[in-house]
Amino acid sequence: ENLQQSLDRLKPQLCQLASVDAQMQYIVERFQLGDNEKKARELLVQLLQEVFVEFFPDSQILPFGSSINTFGVHSCDIDLFLDLENTKVFQARAKSTTEQAGEAMSDDGRSEDSILSDIDLSSSSTNEVLELVATILRRCVPSVHKVHVVGSARLPVVKFHHQELNLQGDITINNRLAVRNTRFLQLCSGVEDRLRPLVFTLRYWAKQKQLAGNPSGAGPLLNNYALTLLIIYFLQNCDPPALLTVDQLKDMACEEEECVIEGWDCTFPSQPIAVPPSKNTEDLCPLLFGFFTFYANFDFAGSVISVRKGRALPITDFLSQNKAEEAMQEEKPTKPQPHGPKLGPLNLLDPFELSHNVAGNVTERSHRSFQRECQDADKYCRSLQYQRKSIKGKSWGLVRLFTPHGDAPRANTEQLTISIPFKLASLPETLRNELHMAGDGFRLLWFQKVCSAVEGVFENVLRCDIAPSTDAVFGQDSVVDAAGEMETSLNTSTNDSFDSFESHDTAVVGAKRRLSSGSEESVSPQGKKPRMTKMRKPELPHWICAHKHMVWAGRRRVRRELIKDTDCRPEGSCMELEAQVTDHIIEKEPELKETLEFKVQPQMVGETESTKTVLTLEPTSDKTGVFHDLFHFLEIFLPKMVETLLEKEAGRA
Ligand code: ATP
Ligand code: MG
Repeated sequence: ENLQQSLDRLKPQLCQLASVDAQMQYIVERFQLGDNEKKARELLVQLLQEVFVEFFPDSQILPFGSSINTFGVHSCDIDLFLDLENTKVFQARAKSTTEQAGEAMSDDGRSEDSILSDIDLSSSSTNEVLELVATILRRCVPSVHKVHVVGSARLPVVKFHHQELNLQGDITINNRLAVRNTRFLQLCSGVEDRLRPLVFTLRYWAKQKQLAGNPSGAGPLLNNYALTLLIIYFLQNCDPPALLTVDQLKDMACEEEECVIEGWDCTFPSQPIAVPPSKNTEDLCPLLFGFFTFYANFDFAGSVISVRKGRALPITDFLSQNKAEEAMQEEKPTKPQPHGPKLGPLNLLDPFELSHNVAGNVTERSHRSFQRECQDADKYCRSLQYQRKSIKGKSWGLVRLFTPHGDAPRANTEQLTISIPFKLASLPETLRNELHMAGDGFRLLWFQKVCSAVEGVFENVLRCDIAPSTDAVFGQDSVVDAAGEMETSLNTSTNDSFDSFESHDTAVVGAKRRLSSGSEESVSPQGKKPRMTKMRKPELPHWICAHKHMVWAGRRRVRRELIKDTDCRPEGSCMELEAQVTDHIIEKEPELKETLEFKVQPQMVGETESTKTVLTLEPTSDKTGVFHDLFHFLEIFLPKMVETLLEKEAGRA
């Protein structure tokens, strides 16, 4: 069954339900592992246990992952951990008793432990042991076939298929942490009832949007474990929180529940009853909406998500941590230090193995589509179609959320906005001191500086062709607020401290240059801009920008190449570097078949406290359909870059 068929079959049932909450509960009912399936899996585990113990005395086979973490769906794989710790003890003891008895290893003695005596667990490699496991599976377990060892995975594994149960299975041997994190997911499920419907719904959504679902560690997509942790993290950050942090859970555990695996603290209560219920009582419908809003706006580039602490840690901490580790290693090369997490576009720390980024495999591209889908979903959830059942029998609620874009094409004529909040810190000290004298005028100054910075980013960082607009009346209505703002400020701002701004190519001047002619406001030959106080009726700026190259795609990779990993400044922190990245892309990458053209119109909105610059972007020619990609890139990149420029300028002034 493909994605479309799956959704087609689901549609009628979902549409007839009364609420999104009911739809989410239905998704659980429909997909969860049935009792029979669970029973069959238990029997397989038992069978494997009986077989393995014959060859590996005292060994134990433990299921983990979706078969038992409460999030399993029909036909999900079965993940197994073969615990050989006790077998090692057994083997060591056997060895020492034979030595004590002074017996040489005879063929007779070996037959006792059969195959095991062929291999010394304390000295053999993981892959050698897995080969042995594979042999045992092939020879001794009925209905099992397609057995093979994948030794190259982060965690080497034996894969098999159980024909009768039509079940894919994985056996690992060094995976105690996964058994423990499965227990953790079970606990979360037990503590918070709303987790399962959220996880089932979001797993299905992610699958439909092709954002998640590849087997653990492989491929560029989020795996289900990572997606589940993102949901848990969101619940930890609801207001009030719907789930506790791992640190808080640890404090609720009793002494017997203490657990350390491979040096990592994995302590948490074994029973949900030990955890008090949360004060958050939201319904599923707004919670799901909340998830999308949360990640639509999340600053992935600057954060490392910690489910342990329940908050985002600044990525800069980890960059310096990596450096410190390197330095330490240079000093004492004999004692290797643990590595920091592998950083990427999405950084999500394992709750226990704190040096492991569970989303380390996620590429820039798949991260971007994840965030974009969250943004689209966030937008959709604001509509009545999401929240209310259609009386006309149309698709509503989850159905439209799950529908691929092919069915509901994105309009490419829509306007999109980026907002940059007012920040006092981005103005120079001298100016900040004058603010009270200037009345509201400082907001206008700030706005102008933002505009100028935006123009600078388009022109000098992204190497856009900026052309004057012919649409001179564009935006007249929509900018009344800002224009009024300007007039007030023009009347009041006669202060000389504003002089420092005049040498900049402010947006207002830029607009004048383009939109008006023959006025006294023209630029003087020396390049000195007119005093703002003399401007009578300023027109608001807008730019028409054109791109011949996809300067937004693959920047991370180019940046990495350029700085050769010696200096991991995050995206948007350095103007020169970003300009270099653009030049590199223009030089190396093929041109777009058709130039992308779009209009950018800045506007100042909001009251004093909440002033912000809103940029409205609208494609004017987008034959190759890349505007959305550019927009989503700018959404993150532009505010950050503008801030960098303003701070730099403020520092200089
Ligand atoms: P499904 O098999 O339905 O996709 P799952 O939860 O079983 O879901 P797997 O990819 O099979 O996911 O992983 C099995 C288990 O291994 C997970 O439940 C988790 O305990 C652990 N695991 C998977 N991926 C990671 C990872 N990147 N980091 C740490 N542990 C992981
Ligand atoms: Mg699994």
